[in-house]
Amino acid sequence: MTRTVVFTATAILIGQSLSSCAAFSPAASTSSFSFALNDAVNTPVEPPLNPLLSQIKPSKTVEVFSLVKQMEAEGETVTSLCVGEPDFAPPQCVLDAATAAMNGGQTRYTAVTGTADLRKAIAEDLKSRKGVEYNPVTEIVVGNGAKQCVYQGLLAACGAGDEVVVPAPYWPSYPEMALLVGASPVILETSVDDGYLINPDALDKCLEEHPKAKVLMLCNPSNPTGGVHSTELLTQIAKVLEKYPNVVILADEIYERLVYTDDGQCTSFASLPGMFSRTITINGFSKSHAMTGFRLGYLAAPERFAKATSVLQGQITSCASSVSQAAGVSALNDVDDSWLENNVVIMKEKRDYVLQELAKMDGVSVSVPPNGAFYVLPDVSKYYNGDDTQLCLDLLKEKKLALVPGESFGAPGTVRISYATSMEELETAMTKLREFLESL
Ligand code: PMP
Repeated sequence: MTRTVVFTATAILIGQSLSSCAAFSPAASTSSFSFALNDAVNTPVEPPLNPLLSQIKPSKTVEVFSLVKQMEAEGETVTSLCVGEPDFAPPQCVLDAATAAMNGGQTRYTAVTGTADLRKAIAEDLKSRKGVEYNPVTEIVVGNGAKQCVYQGLLAACGAGDEVVVPAPYWPSYPEMALLVGASPVILETSVDDGYLINPDALDKCLEEHPKAKVLMLCNPSNPTGGVHSTELLTQIAKVLEKYPNVVILADEIYERLVYTDDGQCTSFASLPGMFSRTITINGFSKSHAMTGFRLGYLAAPERFAKATSVLQGQITSCASSVSQAAGVSALNDVDDSWLENNVVIMKEKRDYVLQELAKMDGVSVSVPPNGAFYVLPDVSKYYNGDDTQLCLDLLKEKKLALVPGESFGAPGTVRISYATSMEELETAMTKLREFLESL
């Protein structure tokens, strides 16, 4: 009864405060009131959710990770190779910059597109390392992680009735984000023979068959395959795209600092002739500087895209954290290249170890050794009749080893291993996986 009184009072207050507003509808206060009455007799009204949600799958990585956290909370020790985040700490200067920002009063909203200092540092970094020139004032939008930037980029480039070409295996958020913006994902299969990279002829055919395609998702280096498209291949892809001028390329280059080829290079798609005006580049600090929890990423694009995404961001989150942005400035201005290069060396050692151990396992194959990011996607389809989800569930239950089923990346019959963890953890993981598979 007390609750009903509280709700009634709230309804009256809402009614009073809103009644001066032109858009006020009496129905609003009535529905608050009827909710209170219904609640009081224990038959709560359940207004429907957005129908769009019935199409959106939750992230499998997040699901597995939540399961791991739950098991750990129950006292179990789990070996987790499911999440894509480096196991090392950000550089000390980055942490110091964050502390100094907090203590120095940088605790307020910043400009929607980010602080001038950070945008300047990003523009300089892209120019010096990637050979692409962006105006820091009008062509860079800092957001709360690259994930948000991908979403806003998609939202700016396409909408209802459009199609988004997503090469598979893919980062699971791409098709779901395409659906969220009202577009339809079109999956472009890649083959093991092509190293899971985009085949220009297959892309041509796909775009010809899908005139509604407005965006091509280009994840380079790739999560989950670790594949790196060479400059030559990117140039061939660009050549195909010349035939389809309406297609925007959303180049997600968040792993571009983690490349294990001899030259260590990852060409920015926007730097290719003719591609700047139609490319939205995504990058951030999560993978390169181990700053996942800072939630800091950015989008770099010609002004009309950047402006559109800043309008969206202004309505969605206003701006990225001021403290994280100060840390981001330090990441770009103060961190020595040797810190990043050293991480590449360490990560390459881990990759090599995992590949070497997987090669010893019966029925497991890695036809495409990953050249970037920190993932391996071995084929385990000989087990469980290719049911990778069940394999991962049993592996977690029986061996307390968490991997992500390949099915969620559009790669059934595989599992994704993130090797961005300690060598000790990797050794335990490889032993567990070998023992598990041998027991089948
Ligand atoms: N793109 C890809 C391909 C990723 O793998 C991730 C993180 N898993 C992101 C974007 C998002 O990164 P951030 O932490 O900056 O949001």
